[in-house]
Amino acid sequence: MLGISQLPEAGGTEFRADHPADTSGNVFIITIDGLRWQELFDGAEGSIINDEKFTSDTAMANMMYWADDATARRKKLMPFMWNVVAKKGQLYGNREFDNNVNVANIYAVSYPGYNEMFTGTTDITIANNNKVYNPNTNVFEFLESKEPYKGRIGIFTSWDVLSFALNEKRSGIEMNCGYENIGHADSTCMAAFNKVQDDMDVKPGTRQDMLTYIAAKEYLQKKKPKILYLGLGETDEYAHAKDYATYLQKANEADHIIAELWHWAQSTPGYKNNTTFVITTDHGRGQHNKWTSHGPFIKGSSQAWLVLLGKHIEPRGEVKTPGQLYQKQIAQTIAGLFGEQFGKQRSILPTLALR
Ligand SMILES: [Zn+2]
Repeated sequence: MLGISQLPEAGGTEFRADHPADTSGNVFIITIDGLRWQELFDGAEGSIINDEKFTSDTAMANMMYWADDATARRKKLMPFMWNVVAKKGQLYGNREFDNNVNVANIYAVSYPGYNEMFTGTTDITIANNNKVYNPNTNVFEFLESKEPYKGRIGIFTSWDVLSFALNEKRSGIEMNCGYENIGHADSTCMAAFNKVQDDMDVKPGTRQDMLTYIAAKEYLQKKKPKILYLGLGETDEYAHAKDYATYLQKANEADHIIAELWHWAQSTPGYKNNTTFVITTDHGRGQHNKWTSHGPFIKGSSQAWLVLLGKHIEPRGEVKTPGQLYQKQIAQTIAGLFGEQFGKQRSILPTLALR
């Protein structure tokens, strides 16, 4: 497992901003929990989609997601990624080209991943998904403390533990994680949203992604934040449940959600041509028949991917040159999009030609 970054770290005092401050933009971060790079870049995997242990109706799943050609197959699974982002954005992590994205933490489970992603550090003491408030400061709190972003950040996640990983209590940021009701349900939509959640008999730790998205969308339209974090979670749930067809369906649904968000941004004044999308995952998973799980002892679990689209992002498409990025660079990449400096890692963007 790749654990340690070989990248030089930017020194504290001699730091120079990644590029000139641009506080006028917006950044939307979307995570798809535990979605493998294998499905993003190759679509459905033949050995899994045809294995009745993982796919109850293999014929139906094949009709939905299979094509012999990998480029047609991935387009079937995630059409927005391959019809739009592949032309206008950048996709990192296809290991067939030695283009690697890894988590640097040694655990390759969710909380350590989100900690790494948003605090820009690996923390050896964060080893599991326990509901403990994170002592490390994250990039959202950092931005919240600055005038251009204060009160202009919204966080909506399917997984309830993210309110601990991002320390909702300390941060003072608008956060809604897991089956948490909307505090100020001042619209019929949000009143209905709360009613739907209240009426559920069983509320697992991970909320349905569609509900998370509805809440985030309503917030976007009403509050017009500069920074939105949408954390989707059902891909990981169905993978752990060994249900490949539903895992694929949730990946497809995530792609649709991203497409809709992009359409919204590109048709809304203030966001149009002024918003960057940062899309990634918190960890990889095992390979072949070990795809259901992940962790320090399961090969492939540190393998991640990263997708960028929108403002400041050159249209490079699928990046097919050898390279190595780490999840811990994402926090500074988010800060760097505003010309801010957070933590010691390098942004992913200085290596790219900015428009
Ligand atoms: Zn996860």
